[in-house]
Amino acid sequence: MEDYRALRQRVIDASLLIQRKGLIRGTSGNISLRSEDGKVIAITPSSIEYEQLTWDMIPLIDAEGAVIHCDANKTVLDNHYKPSSEVLMHTAVMKARQDIEAVVHTHSKFSTLLSFMGQELPIMTIPMIAYFPTPAPIAPFELPGSAALAQAAVKGLGSNGNAVILEKHGLLTVGKTLDKALTCTEYIEEGAEYVYLLKAAGAKVEGIDPARIQEMIEILKSGRAL
Ligand SMILES: [Zn+2]
Repeated sequence: MEDYRALRQRVIDASLLIQRKGLIRGTSGNISLRSEDGKVIAITPSSIEYEQLTWDMIPLIDAEGAVIHCDANKTVLDNHYKPSSEVLMHTAVMKARQDIEAVVHTHSKFSTLLSFMGQELPIMTIPMIAYFPTPAPIAPFELPGSAALAQAAVKGLGSNGNAVILEKHGLLTVGKTLDKALTCTEYIEEGAEYVYLLKAAGAKVEGIDPARIQEMIEILKSGRAL
């Protein structure tokens, strides 16, 4: 069996990148990435510091979440490195959204704060439009790792959403590429920070006008940048 070394290394590189950017702390957060051939999903392992990870510690799972881990010698190993405790959420989203390659889940500060306020995230910045042209919804609280949380996340994303805020928990983003999912996480977090600061300043929180957003979507469709 192919060992998908490059795929697994990309999961590590992405985890370290968002850790450097302050979007995850400790061993919280998790990333999954579907192989181009669609046969496997590489996912961050449970409770291992990101700095300690090497490519062969990244579990490979099938669409149902069963581990098909293999090491450098291409032998199947026992379930030593368990997939993230949120494996159900990742596989449910991957199954529901065949159009995406990557799922990123973080407890990033401002998105999580918003989830406690019950504040849906309006479009607060121009870059957000390319990644999430409608307000990011809040999925109701469900126990971490549960099938109920997985279903809430799937429902929140819908057939074409890129982000859903998980009530009193954090943020989940998806992308047609891993880079897009990571960038979406950053922009949602930036927008959430602005909402938080506006609220802290006592100002009214109002996103960009939906009609103007539509105009900007048309500009993007025409191939021009914003
Ligand atoms: Zn979580």
